[in-house]
Amino acid sequence: MLIQAKGLSKIYGNGENQVVALDKANLTIAPGDFISIIGPSGSGKSTLLHLLSGLDHPTSGSLTYDGQEIYTLSDKELSAFRRRQMGFIFQQFNLLPVLTARENILMPLLLDKKQPDEGYLNQLAELLGLRDRLNHLPHELSGGQQQRVAIARALIAQPEVIFADEPTGNLDSKSGGEVMELLKGIRERMGKTLVIITHDNRIAAAADRQLTIMDGVLSEVAAG
Ligand code: ADP
Ligand code: MG
Repeated sequence: MLIQAKGLSKIYGNGENQVVALDKANLTIAPGDFISIIGPSGSGKSTLLHLLSGLDHPTSGSLTYDGQEIYTLSDKELSAFRRRQMGFIFQQFNLLPVLTARENILMPLLLDKKQPDEGYLNQLAELLGLRDRLNHLPHELSGGQQQRVAIARALIAQPEVIFADEPTGNLDSKSGGEVMELLKGIRERMGKTLVIITHDNRIAAAADRQLTIMDGVLSEVAAG
């Protein structure tokens, strides 16, 4: 999946209250890329991620996935596309509190009316160290375990692209380090594209391509 963003802008409000959250961002993401985007709070990181994943519409600009302009899809087509092709990991985990770990992980398939693949679920649980935690509710799990459940949920529909918005932001440095190691391993082993937003320099440095964002202006840090 080749993702191309051209001149993506997002402007909130108008007149004196206008905020240019994202200013004409250009970005090409090749299959298997591992990209980090670093920037201070309020610089436009989440806005960029929401636009790249089609969760939000830009004020101007275009976004294609394998040449297909995705903002022209209907809401229904776009949500189906997102469910099948993209996995999401959030700072706050965003697990449903009344569902077990297993049910949370399977949620994207249920929404897509797909049969769960028990073999793949077990493989993910093994990989993420969750095998004996699948029947627990989120509040019975540590932060690191909850984020690992969220990673399994992001992978269950076998998407090509994983978007993570400050995935270690709510974790202590040990659990955060473990989550990052797992994400890197999964990306290498499963050949996923990984786009991580962070304000942690060490996480950013682990990526193959590093981008920075400042006041809505996205730039790539030269390699080497
Ligand atoms: P980050 O994720 O880097 O902290 P955001 O993308 O959330 O930054 O926000 C970028 C800028 O856009 C900030 O100035 C923020 O206040 C503003 N912003 C974000 N969402 C909205 C919104 N829905 N309405 C108005 N302003 C917004
Ligand atoms: Mg944010």
